[in-house]
Amino acid sequence: MNFNLDFNNIAESYLFAEVANRATAYSKANPQKKVLKLGIGDVTLPLAPEVIKALHAAVEDMSKKETFRGYGPYEGYDFLRESVRGYYRSHGVDLGLSEIFVSDGAKSDLGNILDIFSVDNTVLVPDPVYPVYVDTNVMAGRKIIYADATEQNGFLPMPQRGVHADIIYICSPNNPTGAAYTKARLKEWVDYANREGAVILYDAAYECFISEDDLARSIFQIEGARTCAIEFCSFSKTAGFTGTRCGYTVIPSELKRGGMSANKMWLRRQSTKFNGVPYIVQRGAAAVFTEQGQREINENLRVYKRNAELIAGAMDQLKIWYTGGKNSPYIWLKCPNGMKSWEFFDYLLNNAQVVGTPGAGFGKNGEGFFRLTAFGSAEVTSEAVGRIKNLLKN
Ligand code: PLP
Repeated sequence: MNFNLDFNNIAESYLFAEVANRATAYSKANPQKKVLKLGIGDVTLPLAPEVIKALHAAVEDMSKKETFRGYGPYEGYDFLRESVRGYYRSHGVDLGLSEIFVSDGAKSDLGNILDIFSVDNTVLVPDPVYPVYVDTNVMAGRKIIYADATEQNGFLPMPQRGVHADIIYICSPNNPTGAAYTKARLKEWVDYANREGAVILYDAAYECFISEDDLARSIFQIEGARTCAIEFCSFSKTAGFTGTRCGYTVIPSELKRGGMSANKMWLRRQSTKFNGVPYIVQRGAAAVFTEQGQREINENLRVYKRNAELIAGAMDQLKIWYTGGKNSPYIWLKCPNGMKSWEFFDYLLNNAQVVGTPGAGFGKNGEGFFRLTAFGSAEVTSEAVGRIKNLLKN
C-alpha cells in the first residue's frame, strides 16, 4: 500500500496560524493593549432576516409528512437554480437550468472539479494566489506554471505569447489582491483559452463587490466564454453563508473537449460522490434572491463596502500604492519604506496593534505587500484606520 506521495509536495500552510500565533503572543505580553484584526477573510455580520425566515420555514417543512424532504437532486433544487438563473439574467447572462449546479460552497467545487480533468494537464495560476488552486493540483500531481501578478501589471496578469496552459485559474475580484479584470481584459483571456483549447476556472466568489460597469461580474458576460469557462460562485461573501455553506457552479453545455461534455461529466461526478446540499440551506439561499432578501443583503454589503472605502481612502491620503478597495473587500498595499511583508506585519502589530495578512504568504510576488480586509465591524475598521493613519503619516 502506498499513500498519495504527492501530498509530500504540498507546502505547509502556516500563514494564518503564524498570524494568529504572533497576535496571541503580543496580546499575552501586552494585556492592556487592544488588538484590532483586519486580517480575516470571514464575514462578521449575521444572516439577513429574510434568510432566517426561510430557514425557519424550511425546518417546519421537515417536521411534516406532506412537506418533508429526503435526498434531493444532486444538482440542487429547481427553486434555487431558477433563482440563480434570474440573478444571471439581471446581469445580461442567459443560462440553461441544467448548466447550474448547487454546491456547498465554492471551495469544494474548485477542488472537486479537478476530477473531470486529466492529470497530465498543465495548470496556470496567478502568483500571488488563493492557495486552494495550487494545493488541489499539487495533491493530484499536476504541473503548475505561474502567471506573475505584480505592481507593474496592477496585479492583473495577461496571457503571455508562447506560453501554453490547459487549465487556467482566474479570480476576479481577486483574493488576495482585490484587483478586478475589466470585460475587455477578460476577453483576451477568453480568446487565449479558446485558441489554446484550454479551460478557464473562473472564481467569482467576490462578484457582489463590483460596482463599475466595465468590470465583469461573470465570465459569461464575455463573448466566447461558453466554450471555454466554468464559473464558481458562493453565498459566503454575498450573503454571509461562510458557516451555512452554499454556492453554485455554472458549466455551459457548449464546453466540450474531445467529444466529451464538461457539464455531463460534472453531473456524473456529482451523482457519484455528492448527495446534494441540505434542503433547509437551499431554501435559505433562495431567499437571498427575493426582493426583500436583496435589499437586506445589500445593506450588509454596504457596511463592508464602506469599510473598504475607508481603508482605501487612508491609503490615498498616505500616498501608499494599493490595489482593490473599490470593487473588492480586500486592500492590497505596498509596504511602506521598502519593508518586507512580515516586517510590516510586526511593525503594525507592535506600533498600532493592528493585524493584517502578510502578502508573502500568498506567493513569491506577494513579498513586500500586505492584505487588509473590509469584513470587520464598522467600529473596528474605523478605529484601525485611525491608528494606521497616525502611525504612517510621517
Ligand atoms: N474563492 C475565493 C477566492 C475565496 O477567497 C474563498 C473564501 O475565502 C472561496 C473561494 C471559498 O468560498 P466558499 O466559502 O464558498 O467555499
